[in-house]
Amino acid sequence: MSGILPNLIESNIRWQHRAACKDYPLENHFEVYEKNAIVAKRQDMVCHNCPVRTQCLEWAINNQATGLHAEIYLSLGKYAKNKNRHKTPEQAAKLIAEVDEVQKMINKRAKHG
Ligand code: SF4
Repeated sequence: MSGILPNLIESNIRWQHRAACKDYPLENHFEVYEKNAIVAKRQDMVCHNCPVRTQCLEWAINNQATGLHAEIYLSLGKYAKNKNRHKTPEQAAKLIAEVDEVQKMINKRAKHG
């Protein structure tokens, strides 16, 4: 099986079937992404246009995931600055804000049950 799906299938998530990355190699979300900026930028674009991007980011933060999710390389659910170096400062600021926003939403939901 390819793509990031193996992790998601374990969690029994239905939106995974619409993932834009489902036909891409899993390593493009991990070691290849880290080492090859050309692949990283290409994979970022796949995420950028993914119809389940929001669900993916929420799942990744909620599960303290590591690797590429929603155009962002996360380390235990947090924005990993060293793995996102190929992004422009503007892109990085926007994505960091997106992570913060989703984290706040998760916290709020947890607080209110
Ligand atoms: S946002 Fe990216 S990592 Fe997440 S499902 Fe879509 S393409 Fe895959």
